[in-house]
Amino acid sequence: MKAAANKINKEWHETHPMPRNATLAQRIAWHQEHAKHCHCRPIPAKLLLEINKISR
Ligand SMILES: [Zn+2]
Repeated sequence: MKAAANKINKEWHETHPMPRNATLAQRIAWHQEHAKHCHCRPIPAKLLLEINKISR
C-alpha cells in the first residue's frame, strides 16, 4: 500500500508555474490557488502571515 499524503496535482502545476521573480502579491495569489487545487505542500507560514495582514 502506498501513502496517499501530499498528493500532487501535476496537471495544475504544469499549467500554473510560479513566476521566476514573483512579487509577494503574486506568490500569495499562486499559493491560494495552489491550495485549492493541489496538496503537495502547505502555504508557508511566513506567507500566511502576509495573507492575514492583507485580508483583515
Ligand atoms: Zn502542488
